[in-house]
Amino acid sequence: MPPVAPSEFKLPSPLQEVKYPPITDCGAVLYIKRDDLIHPEVSGNKWRKLKYNFEKARLRGNRLIVTAGGAFSNHIAATAAAGQLFGFRTAGVIRGEDADLNNPTLRFAQDCGMEIVRISRAAYRTEGSHDFSDMVKTRFGAHYYIPSGGANDLGAAGCGELLGELDFRPDAVWTACGTGTTLCGLGTANAARSEIFGVSVLKGGAFLRDTADRHLARTFGDPETEAYIREKIHILTDHHFGGYAKSTPELIDFMREFYRTTGVKTDPIYTAKAAFGMARFAERHPPKKGEKWVFIHTGGMQGLPPFEEKSGISVFGNC
Ligand SMILES: *Cc1c(COP(=O)(O)O)cnc(C)c1O
Repeated sequence: MPPVAPSEFKLPSPLQEVKYPPITDCGAVLYIKRDDLIHPEVSGNKWRKLKYNFEKARLRGNRLIVTAGGAFSNHIAATAAAGQLFGFRTAGVIRGEDADLNNPTLRFAQDCGMEIVRISRAAYRTEGSHDFSDMVKTRFGAHYYIPSGGANDLGAAGCGELLGELDFRPDAVWTACGTGTTLCGLGTANAARSEIFGVSVLKGGAFLRDTADRHLARTFGDPETEAYIREKIHILTDHHFGGYAKSTPELIDFMREFYRTTGVKTDPIYTAKAAFGMARFAERHPPKKGEKWVFIHTGGMQGLPPFEEKSGISVFGNC
């Protein structure tokens, strides 16, 4: 049985209908699945990805959860907060020996009781290797390891549950993609055979197709099934705005415009790029009247203040 979420978790996450001209002017309906509202500190797809991993750790009797991430990682913040809520000790292996322990994300993680260990970028790149797991074992002893980004099959399974919270058949479902775990989960749980769109927030997002294919192969093990599930998964790789955590004035303008029209704030690392990709797609391929599109707000709002601090831009200040 999955851990029962304390009552402060808002699940199923709220579904909000919004007006957004590129989509709704054609007579289609746009919903935003507000996973960002699941929990103030364990928000969005990060809770969905952690859920079954925490359950497995509990079943194995592991009291310590170790994971890895960048210095501003939403996954690090979410794991630290969830660990505290569910009674696990947590440790985070952070990319870069020079990572600032006092940045808002790492400060928050440590306040939740997470032990932070910083390693070189070169060592970080070996995540998944024997050397890396030996290092973690030597450093921490018995533990349950969650890959960076919550990127494993249990993480994907938790994300797939989102579709079961909808009581209609969406024609299109949109998500931001980092590791592609959320996309994989949605892709394999796609019983209604909706069109699933993933927008890469990284440069070189073509690897996502491979990630999805390998996930489908592990899940179904039958090429014929994989082929028809696969054709419902669409990956957009042109909306990264220069790469992970990079942005341009055009993206900031878009975030403001999206907020003014829908009343929903996005984050510059993930959800703004996904919403931008959806808007541009809708301009080129307008939805038909009556279609129902669902945009998943995967969360990430904890990344906004550090972004504003680093860039000197107040994104929603003048809206
Ligand atoms: C981590 C994250 C993603 C990326 O999810 P993947 O499953 O790694 O593709 C998308 N949106 C937000 C807000 C995130 O924090």
